[in-house]
Amino acid sequence: MPELPEVEVVRRGLARWAAGRTVETVSVLHPRAVRRHAAGPADFAAGLRGAVLGEPHRRGKYLWIPLRPGTAMLAHLGMSGQFLVKPAGAPPETHLRVRFTFADDLGTELRFVDQRTFGGLSVQPAVPGDPESLPQPLAHIARDPLDDAFDEDAFHAALRRKRTTVKRALLDQSLISGVGNIYADEALWRTRLHYERPTATLTRPRTAELVQHIREVMGDALAAGGTSFDSMYVNVNGESGWFDRSLDAYGQEDRPCRRCGTPIRRRPWMNRSSYFCPHCQRPPRAA
Ligand SMILES: [Zn+2]
Repeated sequence: MPELPEVEVVRRGLARWAAGRTVETVSVLHPRAVRRHAAGPADFAAGLRGAVLGEPHRRGKYLWIPLRPGTAMLAHLGMSGQFLVKPAGAPPETHLRVRFTFADDLGTELRFVDQRTFGGLSVQPAVPGDPESLPQPLAHIARDPLDDAFDEDAFHAALRRKRTTVKRALLDQSLISGVGNIYADEALWRTRLHYERPTATLTRPRTAELVQHIREVMGDALAAGGTSFDSMYVNVNGESGWFDRSLDAYGQEDRPCRRCGTPIRRRPWMNRSSYFCPHCQRPPRAA
């Protein structure tokens, strides 16, 4: 499943290959890919035809492209969604869902390919007056720590207020966005925090450390072109990225901790797993 760094790679690809181009035609080849566009595929296509694609933005794992004033195309890659830029008329991919052609002579088209169709596209009204045309469905999603406008003081205050544990908080999109299971485990390992640590016990410096480590993990993944734990993930140019060799905790069960040599443990956690070093990341003491 693409995590934030992969989505950022896709955003950069769209910025390079699609921004500023005028949409000529839109073909929806599978209605499920636009199921979040309530008015249906024909209305989705009409919302895009003739529009100039704006500079793509990201909030957490969502992407959007401003269209005409007050509207934007919202995209979520789901489990396996990809944007591909292909020569116009190249043979269709097996799981091609939506195809965009452009009114220019660059000779390429944009394709949304999604095997499992958990992802999808829609045209949405923007939050009135938002300079980036933020789609209304994203209004409740917090900024992520790679965003220049991420407010660390507000994040810390929210952590202290919330009666929850640290990993749950990291995966709560209303507090901080874009942190999935893998990046949470990696950042907690770097910060030497157990995933069940109550957030009310975090000091301001610990929060700063944690946020810094999230940024570093994401930055490392970005530099490597994104993690790929799902071989179907391909970035906007069709290249796979991977960086699983540099993971310290996630997926490392029974391997020695790189800091202390204690075997990394895996525990079931909210229908997923948490990986941690039982020596470096001590469980919180029972109250
Ligand atoms: Zn350790």
